[in-house]
Amino acid sequence: FHILGIESSCDDTAAAVLRVDRSKAQILSNVVYGQSELHARFGGVVPEIAARAHAEKIDLCIEDALSQSGLALEDLDGIAVTAGPGLIGGVLAGVMCAKGLSAATGLPLIGVNHLAGHALTPRLTDDVTYPYLLLLVSGGHCQILIVRGDEDFTRLGGTIDDSPGEAFDKTAKLLGMSQPGGPAVEAEARNGDQRAIALPRPLLDRPGCDMSFSGLKTAVLRQRDAAVARDGGLKRSVRADLCGAFQLAVRDILVEKTRRALDIYLAERPKTPTLAVAGGVAANGMLRAGLEKLARQQGMAFVAPPLALCTDNAAMIAYAGAQRLIAGAQDGLDLAARPRWPLDQKAPAMLGAGK
Ligand code: ATP
Ligand code: FE
Repeated sequence: FHILGIESSCDDTAAAVLRVDRSKAQILSNVVYGQSELHARFGGVVPEIAARAHAEKIDLCIEDALSQSGLALEDLDGIAVTAGPGLIGGVLAGVMCAKGLSAATGLPLIGVNHLAGHALTPRLTDDVTYPYLLLLVSGGHCQILIVRGDEDFTRLGGTIDDSPGEAFDKTAKLLGMSQPGGPAVEAEARNGDQRAIALPRPLLDRPGCDMSFSGLKTAVLRQRDAAVARDGGLKRSVRADLCGAFQLAVRDILVEKTRRALDIYLAERPKTPTLAVAGGVAANGMLRAGLEKLARQQGMAFVAPPLALCTDNAAMIAYAGAQRLIAGAQDGLDLAARPRWPLDQKAPAMLGAGK
């Protein structure tokens, strides 16, 4: 069957059409309208601006996705939409649009957890069987999960403060670079020496799978100020060294904590042990390489989705929605938009949310 996905939880307005056959899917179209120019001069995403831009662009984005897929609304079998977590104005824009389409066409409406979208992406792109170990690292989240089913997640650890994406973005801002910070820091790091400046690895010496990134960002700030005081300004080479040192520290923390989670996961003796990574920060080359090496050492499969499916997109929402639809789930027009929605909670309709 065919399903439309709609995503508007942060600063990307996105729509996609998938052809789905059980757990297999083919992406017929995957359209993303970014908003980075709108937010550039504020140095971060401004929720009100994002919500307005989503509301303005979402119809056009869906039309684009449909026309690129060669299908019309009548050809679809369902409409999946991000119902949270995220910036509430944006989530509402998507949910209202999806409800309108569902009411007008009679197509089933499925509310999707944005994080479940990221978490199931390895199954959209690759032949991955449950249970797999997933490092989910994005702009707002950082979790190590055992993914046991479409809606069955066991959390082994995560950040106790900033997400790595946030740390990349704040570091870029501290160093006077553009947003989103991840790609900017990664590019700049190539021009520097990542071992020239030593940065801390908070919580790394503590047992368990929890992580902390806010101290790392503060350490970057201190090094920046020291360099400015010494050199009378931030030299390009120092900036590149700092980017490299920061990226290396993030990689070290994430890889080491994932190594510990692997022990817990492998103790369950999964049939096809697999390590997967998802979320925007999974686009980072150094992190991907570090995780791949870790998986190889353990003799297990490693899956990292292509970059465009790591950052926000609607294909992952359509896919996660399709799996819920196949399982017999469907939401009513009372589907709630939720700013917070932990992965280990069921979909809002099942909870009777909004009442
Ligand atoms: P969430 O999914 O938690 O709600 P989000 O949807 O805003 O947050 P994503 O789109 O999944 O986040 O990821 C965006 C984040 O990924 C940004 O913080 C960005 O800096 C980071 N990112 C993107 N590319 C890279 C990269 N190459 N290296 C490191 N970080 C990156
Ligand atoms: Fe995301």
